[in-house]
Amino acid sequence: MENIEKSKLKALSDIASIDISLEFNDVLQSILKITCKATDAQCGTIMLVDELDNIIRMVASYGLPQDYIERVYDAAKKAGVPLASSPSGTVLETGKYYPVPNVFEEPKDKPWHDLSKELGFSSQIFTPMKKGLKVIGLLNIYWAEPRRFTDEEINFVTIVASQASSVVQNARLCGSLENNVLELKQYKENLEEKIKEAHKKLYDSERYLRTIIESSMDGIFVVDEKGRFEFGNDSAFNILGWPGQELIGQFFMKVISGDMEDFMLDRWHEVQNGIELPYETKIITKNGEVRYLYVSHAHTEIKGNRKYVVVIKDITEKLRLEQELKESYAELKESDRIKTEFISNISHELLTPLTSIKGFVELLNDGAIGTINEEQKRSLGIIHRNSERLIHLIKELLDISHLEKNKLGLQFGLVSINDMLSKCILDMQPLAKENQISLFQDARPLPRIWGDEERLTQVIINLLANAIKFTPQHGKVTVISQDFTEQVKISIKDTGIGIPPDHLSRIFERFYQVDGSTKRKYGGTGIGLSICKNIIEKHYGSIWAESDGNGSTFHILLPKLKSKDGVADAKPKS
Ligand code: ADP
Repeated sequence: MENIEKSKLKALSDIASIDISLEFNDVLQSILKITCKATDAQCGTIMLVDELDNIIRMVASYGLPQDYIERVYDAAKKAGVPLASSPSGTVLETGKYYPVPNVFEEPKDKPWHDLSKELGFSSQIFTPMKKGLKVIGLLNIYWAEPRRFTDEEINFVTIVASQASSVVQNARLCGSLENNVLELKQYKENLEEKIKEAHKKLYDSERYLRTIIESSMDGIFVVDEKGRFEFGNDSAFNILGWPGQELIGQFFMKVISGDMEDFMLDRWHEVQNGIELPYETKIITKNGEVRYLYVSHAHTEIKGNRKYVVVIKDITEKLRLEQELKESYAELKESDRIKTEFISNISHELLTPLTSIKGFVELLNDGAIGTINEEQKRSLGIIHRNSERLIHLIKELLDISHLEKNKLGLQFGLVSINDMLSKCILDMQPLAKENQISLFQDARPLPRIWGDEERLTQVIINLLANAIKFTPQHGKVTVISQDFTEQVKISIKDTGIGIPPDHLSRIFERFYQVDGSTKRKYGGTGIGLSICKNIIEKHYGSIWAESDGNGSTFHILLPKLKSKDGVADAKPKS
């Protein structure tokens, strides 16, 4: 420092006392200004190498126009030389200062002679600004006249360049620190936002769960590992019949009915051993009311402590209704049995005198007891028909009571379907004629089947009677029989009033009639088809009805005997 003159020492001290809290460019501007003044220079620049694109940018200038650096680049471009060939380029490459005593004699400066002339400088010194060994920028000072540079001047600009370099490095450090601080701040803000969101989610889900628990009709409560009430929703305390504050902290056995204590202690031990099966129990409310509960539970661990979540349903009313239902079912069953018994007895009581009335009417009608005139004959005919109707009705009632007692005994044997159908048609022909209905048989030869001929006849007669009853005058009833591989099929088709589709399956129910009103046109009891269905099913067959607007058809399928010639071993079980 001894060989630096006082004015320059003053300049260095001025540079050292620049307020570095000022804008970074302003600090460099001040350094440049002080340096130019201390060296009687006309102008100067501080340039920095941009770390990103490696281009030199002017960050401060003194005595030069703002567009100076652009013009430097333009001149180089115009001359077709790279900037690296200039004195600044040389300094960047070598890291050593580069004095130019006379710009116009310096070959490296040739592309910029015009610019130097215009801006009025003739000598220059380019000094590297370094960070360690790396050149991060240049401090360039220009004088108006050509000149030689003393060591003292070179020392001075070198020191200034290193001070400018420190300013740049500090500023960059500050910048990156500021960036770090900014990033940290942002990170903190993000973190706070996330924590807030997580808190909100937690709060929402807690509120959601609480709403579910509070609005549950089931009682939900928690007991600790010692079985003491810890928490309960309103429903829980309502079901238990105790105010919450009187139960919290108490052992759960407080609410259990005395006779259930052993049972509940067993359950408690099971629950503690991880057996979580639901059960029913009995409790006593605070005012002594007995209630029945359905209890289910699950265990959980909170902060290392075992808790039991218990869900209770009050089933007192349900059990009471079930009991009532059981009792009324038993009563119903008993009264049904009495009714069946009564029907059975009364039917027998009616059948005997009616059969004898019918017999005597027949004797009278035949003239076996005495001569009768035509008028008397007609009256006896009416009595005879009505007693037959009554006998038929009573027989149906008897069948029903036998069916209910499952005592409709069947007498199985070989049955010729064709013969049976012919007989039925023959029997029903008078009734059909009376109603002006044509009754046909469309028969194929059929094999014999295994069945109860009397009962099967009853079914066919019933179906024919219905077909005639529900078919208007001049209608037609046809009996069709068909032979299938494993079954025979009998169909009774009429051209009558038909059956609405939604009634088709119900007509086989007992007492069911399509028109069940008291003002109905057709008589009957609604019993016949249910008996038919029962008889056919006892033959392992099936019966159903179809109706298409042109009347109804009742179909019966009956299984055929299986062996070719054998009979007894192939018959269906009766
Ligand atoms: P009932 O004839 O004594 O009323 P059924 O059990 O024999 O009792 O028949 C039940 C009901 O089925 C009848 O009331 C009638 O509504 C309907 N039904 C039976 N057969 C026919 C048919 N061929 N055509 C139209 N409706 C019928």
